[in-house]
Amino acid sequence: MLSDDQLLRYSRHIFLPDIDIRGQQALADARVLVLGAGGLGSPVLLYLAAAGVGHLVISDPDVVELSNLQRQIVHDSEGLNQSKVESARHRLLAMNPEIQVTALPRALDDQELLRQVQAADVVVVGTDNFASRHAANRACLQARIPLLSAAAIAWEGQISTFDSRREDSPCFACLYPDSDDQALNCAEAGVVSPLVGVLGSYQALEVIKLITGAGEPLVGRLQLFDGKSGEWQTLRLKRNPQCAVCSKL
Ligand SMILES: [Zn+2]
Repeated sequence: MLSDDQLLRYSRHIFLPDIDIRGQQALADARVLVLGAGGLGSPVLLYLAAAGVGHLVISDPDVVELSNLQRQIVHDSEGLNQSKVESARHRLLAMNPEIQVTALPRALDDQELLRQVQAADVVVVGTDNFASRHAANRACLQARIPLLSAAAIAWEGQISTFDSRREDSPCFACLYPDSDDQALNCAEAGVVSPLVGVLGSYQALEVIKLITGAGEPLVGRLQLFDGKSGEWQTLRLKRNPQCAVCSKL
């Protein structure tokens, strides 16, 4: 049951017929695993905390560096050299003390990853390497938990939802059969600051849709964004019957 304060705090959600008290309660009851508290993870975490997602679990092995602060807005100068998950936890609880935040200051090995995925309702991945995204994909397929993936490099970004609860949903490996870590490396390519905000905020929006059942999730669609032209492009994604990962399940 939502308290009077919660009804007021979340009133702009509750006014929405697609969310209402029922959807807000679903958000309060939800547990979301966020892999990576960086450029994408920052807006994801900030918006999900503000939106009242009851339990956020954050994994990231890194500490806050000066070059992160240009875009990783969940952290600030006071958090320099602290673990990113602790810095994020501090900020999120200041924003919304009603939620629970679990900080895991490490990259999760396969066993711990699977355990955390099984405990989650939705998984969001915003890490900077393909290996961790493929590991998250495998765990989400095994546990049948939806995975929200986004990436942002230079001026371009992309986002899609992979939901193995649906027969027709492709998986991350259907889209990226090979691991090529070069393509995800902001440290070398650079990234314009608000681009990660566009894509990360979009991930948070999709999480809220999945948890409340509102709208149509981005399953089977890859949205590409070009920050220079401002154009969005939608690619239809199909499940690859020869996919080395999801066709074996
Ligand atoms: Zn696949």
